[in-house]
Amino acid sequence: MSKSMSASRERRDDGANHPQVARTIPEIRELLAAAPGKAGAVTGLVPTMGSLHEGHLSLARRAVEECDTSVLSIFINPIQFGVSEDFDSYPADIDGDLELAASAGIDLVFAPSAAEMYPPGFETSIDAGSVAEGLCGQSRPGHFQGVATVVAKLFNIIRPGRAYFGQKDAQQLAVVRRMARDLDYEVEIVACPTVRDSDGLALSSRNAYLSAEEREQAIVLFEALSLARKAVESGETSAARVKRMMRKRIAENYLVEYEYARIADPDTIQPVEKITGGPVLLAVAATIGSARLIDNVIATPPGG
Ligand code: AMP
Repeated sequence: MSKSMSASRERRDDGANHPQVARTIPEIRELLAAAPGKAGAVTGLVPTMGSLHEGHLSLARRAVEECDTSVLSIFINPIQFGVSEDFDSYPADIDGDLELAASAGIDLVFAPSAAEMYPPGFETSIDAGSVAEGLCGQSRPGHFQGVATVVAKLFNIIRPGRAYFGQKDAQQLAVVRRMARDLDYEVEIVACPTVRDSDGLALSSRNAYLSAEEREQAIVLFEALSLARKAVESGETSAARVKRMMRKRIAENYLVEYEYARIADPDTIQPVEKITGGPVLLAVAATIGSARLIDNVIATPPGG
């Protein structure tokens, strides 16, 4: 490895072994080429936008456990944010993130700049089709094209055998699965369960935007999902009734601005009207203060 490279494995005062950090595509490729390369060695990728919390770290630990080389990417992807969204204020803490990545045992961190990922003249976009259209696709036009495009780039740069995504972002997971299948990526997409605070609120980097009172009210999302899941598991088959139940519960809290409560097929993200078959995705979105939060659970009808 050349001395001029900024990539380095740093050993800090605490004695912890810190991951090597690459800022450019050639750097991460060089680090990956130098990684222990026994036949069939598997690289695991955990794509994130940083500001790491226990949700991200659960993915990271799994990648470390299951793969020969683990890579965590930190990139606040500009092309997945709409013009009026929170790209400029999205929380960032690279030093804290490197500490946490080290604590999870991550080998390599890839933290490129926007110019590295999207040099002048960049124009290609990946459209995952109908799976990107429902749920958040309606209120965030272009969002999932931005996600699919950056994930495709990361897959091409890192060439992972396994890539780890959170069930917390269920539609993103479905979009990535579809994209990987349609474009013949040789990568296993591993879905990891949603990590929650003790009261049930799903961990999210955007929870940092919440005031104490907003944080208290944010729990209503998980409460609405839990009510709905119970109803489905007890045999309620009308999606309309279950959606009304979720909407009513969310609207009870005055700081919470309801956006949607929907029921969809977990793989295709197409709306479900009658809940009679296999598991369904119950998904909600709301804005609380300046934070747009989403959450979901999977519910299985009796005999489903
Ligand atoms: P983000 O940094 O928000 O883009 O998230 C990076 C990855 O972490 C995505 O695959 C998310 O689904 C996953 N993730 C975020 N929050 C959680 C959580 N609370 N539990 C599990 N995975 C999560």
